[in-house]
Amino acid sequence: MKDTFNRKIEYVRISVTDRCDLRCQYCMPENGVKSIPHNDILSYEEILRIARCIAHLGVSRIKITGGEPLVRLGVTGFIGEIKKLEGIEQVTLTTNATQLADYIDKLAELKIDGINISMDTLNPELYKKITGRDSFYKAFEGFKKALEYPDIKLKINCVPMEIPEQNLPEIAGLAEDYPVHVRFIEMMPIGLGRNFPFKSEMDTMKEIERAYGPLIPYNGVLGNGPSRYYSISGFKGKIGFISAMSHKFCDFCNRVRLTADGRLKTCLQYEVGVNLKEAMRNGASDEELEALVLMALESKPKEHRFEEALVEGRETRSMFQIGG
Ligand code: SAM
Ligand code: SF4
Repeated sequence: MKDTFNRKIEYVRISVTDRCDLRCQYCMPENGVKSIPHNDILSYEEILRIARCIAHLGVSRIKITGGEPLVRLGVTGFIGEIKKLEGIEQVTLTTNATQLADYIDKLAELKIDGINISMDTLNPELYKKITGRDSFYKAFEGFKKALEYPDIKLKINCVPMEIPEQNLPEIAGLAEDYPVHVRFIEMMPIGLGRNFPFKSEMDTMKEIERAYGPLIPYNGVLGNGPSRYYSISGFKGKIGFISAMSHKFCDFCNRVRLTADGRLKTCLQYEVGVNLKEAMRNGASDEELEALVLMALESKPKEHRFEEALVEGRETRSMFQIGG
């Protein structure tokens, strides 16, 4: 399917929950989080039905996200069903990995195609400060266990902050020691992310080059999205940068998002989209759901305007409610 700017939409990020076992400072507040009531969360059957419709319209790749997707009961059974959908060629997961060690055998059995692990530091004390939980060793154990399955493509996602002890070269070094790509994601002014001093791609690159030498641009395609990759001599994996602020990548946007409460979001920054849960629960047929998806695409904005502080219709929810 295509939007009005002739962009081919072939990738959907599906959030299965707004709950999480961590409280990353830039994503989810420690207190005062009002979780979506269970009834308002899409059931797995409902998500599968929407996924089937979207696949019918031409989406071929799905990312399962959250909140933390592995905290929702029955998620592996659901992933198994998603894997079976006609037209779906790739299913990947993004996780904080705190429970990955318990799930990885099953995920490998289901032939999950890739896993992105969010890890902002390798310093357990700082990890606790950033995430509000003492879970570094559990998350790292999840990462190490995932490495036992070479068919699962692994990526590490890190959001750089202005914290020297975050030690970005140390995180980049995971791509030297292991066959994983490490991506640095610029903080976006969404939800609590607005409260953080912004660290630019340029500053992160400089730190990494100081430690390891030049980053050499890599032109191959390694994922579904906007990451630009670089090689470093002697590294097993690549270093990627997803820099919504420094390099607007909207011209190449290929995605929509389905939130846990059933809204199809067509742009990360704007509230625009359509409420598929409401339509479904009011008896919409598959054809009607597909028509709604296409209608929502017509309002997909051309680009984000993160650089402007106040934008009309901007998203008021946080990343844990959207799915990243
Ligand atoms: N809990 C899972 C995880 O952490 O991977 C999945 C959901 S999480 C919202 C997805 C990604 O969004 C994480 O890599 C996280 O670091 C990133 N994220 C959250 N808030 C962000 C922000 N304001 N700017 C940039 N990335 C953000
Ligand atoms: Fe949870 Fe992921 Fe948000 Fe951290 S980034 S609070 S792990 S949803």
